[in-house]
Amino acid sequence: MDFISTRGLAPNVNASEAILKGLADDGGLYVPSQFPYIDFKSLRGATSYPEVAFEVLAPFFVNDELQNDLAEICYEAFNFALPLHPLSEKELVMELFWGPTAAFKDFGARFLAIAMEKLMAKRNRPLTILVATSGDTGGAVAAAFHKRENINVKVLFPKGRVSARQEKQLTCWGDNVETYAVEGSFDDCQRMVKEAFGDSKLVEQYGLSSANSINLGRLLPQMVYPFYASLEIAERFNQESTMIIPSGNIGNSCGTYWAKVVGAPIKNVILALNANKTVVDYLESGVYEKRSSIATLANAMDVGDPSNIERLNHLFGDFETFKKEVSAYSVSDEEIKQTIERVWNEYNYPICPHTATGEFVRNKLKLTDPTVVYATAHPAKFDTIVEPIINKEIPIPDQLAVLLEKESSYNEIEADYHHLFE
Ligand SMILES: *Cc1c(COP(=O)(O)O)cnc(C)c1O
Repeated sequence: MDFISTRGLAPNVNASEAILKGLADDGGLYVPSQFPYIDFKSLRGATSYPEVAFEVLAPFFVNDELQNDLAEICYEAFNFALPLHPLSEKELVMELFWGPTAAFKDFGARFLAIAMEKLMAKRNRPLTILVATSGDTGGAVAAAFHKRENINVKVLFPKGRVSARQEKQLTCWGDNVETYAVEGSFDDCQRMVKEAFGDSKLVEQYGLSSANSINLGRLLPQMVYPFYASLEIAERFNQESTMIIPSGNIGNSCGTYWAKVVGAPIKNVILALNANKTVVDYLESGVYEKRSSIATLANAMDVGDPSNIERLNHLFGDFETFKKEVSAYSVSDEEIKQTIERVWNEYNYPICPHTATGEFVRNKLKLTDPTVVYATAHPAKFDTIVEPIINKEIPIPDQLAVLLEKESSYNEIEADYHHLFE
């Protein structure tokens, strides 16, 4: 299958080329040239998650260099559980946090890392991954790429704006992973990465590529769990699901829209935002205006100018369609705290601040159809926020405990991309 740039000025590529390039030459993001249709009833025979993943992703890798590796990549990447936790019969929480860094980004990062390692094994040149993180991406990318052959990783995070446990996950790796604490915001980090990509000498010399959710190799695997969950729910209730998604850079939501487009039994997709409400404002005014990011309790969603908006605009074509398909709600820090408390009191179930934005929206809308809130991170990652609210210690999952015991190291730099290459 061919992939095209959202800006329409770069040559078409296949999936492997899109994965290696990250961003298209015209500065746009890669999207499928057309969407296949997958009859979800045909997937009912697929029993395991990796099997569903293979079936959903296979059409995107037809005639691709990775076509024959795809099954193996899916089995290696998706080797952890994905429970659908019921709060009530039709109110489900999709626990996306059982991977190595306890956030949903492990799904995309692991798929991408394994795909890239396979691609680089066939090439004789360096590859350097640049990744800007608002908290969880960097940890997931670092974990996924750690010790992969022929690949170096540079992780940038906004100094002092991630939780202690998030920071640990960004800084505990060493070997082929180098971490930078940037004097600035996540938007500064993202800008530095973009500027480095604009520096053709560096791109050439280091073989720069990206692992942010702008990379197609992160996004395609994020189509799989909406499929998996909505399939399961369609079997149980013979109904379509509404997906409620704590969103920042909108990668998860974009993957879910793509899943809906190719045939997953999804009725609606709803974005839950924190105080960074660029998308809510866009829906109201029809004019997209990027903002500076505001620090909130749901820090992995502190994004003022979500990159994947460009993919959604491309998908929907015009604002009227966008407005019909997308709904978004902004949730304040106070509402996040109240929701963590309410969900604990009502269901004895601890949730992270990001997941709380989704639960807030679910509670506000009171839909009777099946709803799935994406639990994007394990609450133990945000112990300093969640524990005082619920007045209880949250046990640390094993995979996270291992990371927290490692040594940290990082470089402190100003928000200028040249420092990454000194
Ligand atoms: C990254 C992240 C989000 C936001 O996801 P996007 O795909 O960027 O919209 C939400 N919650 C957590 C815990 C995250 O790490």
